[in-house]
Amino acid sequence: MRIHAFAARAPKAALQPFDYEQDNPGPYDVDVKVSHCGICHSDVHLIDNDWNISHYPLVPGHEIVGTVAATGTAVEQLKIGERVGVGWQSGSCLRCEWCLNGYENLCQSKVLTCVQRHGGFADFVRTDSRFTFSIPESLDSAGAAPLLCAGVAVYAPMRRCGVRPHHHVGVVGIGGLGHLALQFAHAMGCEVTAFSMNPEKEGDAAAFGADHFVVSRDPAQMRRTVRTLDFILATATAPLPWTAYIKALRPNGKLTIVSRLSSNGEEGVVTAPASLLVAGQKSIAGSVTGGRAVTQEMLAFAARHDIAAKTELFSCADINSAVERVRNNAAHYRVVLET
Ligand SMILES: [Zn+2]
Ligand SMILES: [Zn+2]
Repeated sequence: MRIHAFAARAPKAALQPFDYEQDNPGPYDVDVKVSHCGICHSDVHLIDNDWNISHYPLVPGHEIVGTVAATGTAVEQLKIGERVGVGWQSGSCLRCEWCLNGYENLCQSKVLTCVQRHGGFADFVRTDSRFTFSIPESLDSAGAAPLLCAGVAVYAPMRRCGVRPHHHVGVVGIGGLGHLALQFAHAMGCEVTAFSMNPEKEGDAAAFGADHFVVSRDPAQMRRTVRTLDFILATATAPLPWTAYIKALRPNGKLTIVSRLSSNGEEGVVTAPASLLVAGQKSIAGSVTGGRAVTQEMLAFAARHDIAAKTELFSCADINSAVERVRNNAAHYRVVLET
């Protein structure tokens, strides 16, 4: 089968049409006819080879929704024509301790959708059926596509860190990830505070479920958050005033970072006074996407609570302008290609 895709042929290059041949699917493979594909900031990092893992030609796209077009001989749980989604990861060893515990995202042998395979900026994409998720019927395809990466990236740490309905959750950075985190935390029943550098985000944050809004560059507003939050999800891509956020945590509070905070080749660094961590039993952690079980759960939760990404839709003819919007952090709130 001939696949019509868009690829970067060198680091930082514009995307160009790129066709490739694919033979018959392997036993566990599934070919998905792509209808929608979100553009994640990680796609820009891959196009630019910021993480030194990119191979060219590189077909980005790992927030894929489409329908099953072909299945391998061992695929039983997915049917032709069924609507499915694929995220950042499309394979792992399925045998190591991390895979066996539901943390396929931590497997040393994980397969990334746009690195070891060609991604979803294409008419079809081949993935591993075991990393291909049914999309609940009530979810709109465009609004669901970003859930496959951004959605699970914010939902998984809330679940892993034991966020409960009586907790007060802070979401730092109201962008592609943050606007989903606000919706999830609100739907979990939590009191929710949005933190943003940009005061103009207040109305949107309230619409996504925030009960309170803090302009994070205003020290007086930050001081009022001291000892108020049980859990903070830091989605911002810039380094934060870490001490202020650690002070905002209540005892036993947890701050989880989902961005590498790196920019212009500089590694992001987190610093915090040990005394604050020790005295309040507070912790700082990182989180990267999520395993299969939490991904399927997140989709079910999103369907139950009408959670979807707020999207800007682009056609493939405008694919490079769409990528530039993501590169410039200009999207409100997530860019999705309609193929
Ligand atoms: Zn992503
Ligand atoms: Zn494994």
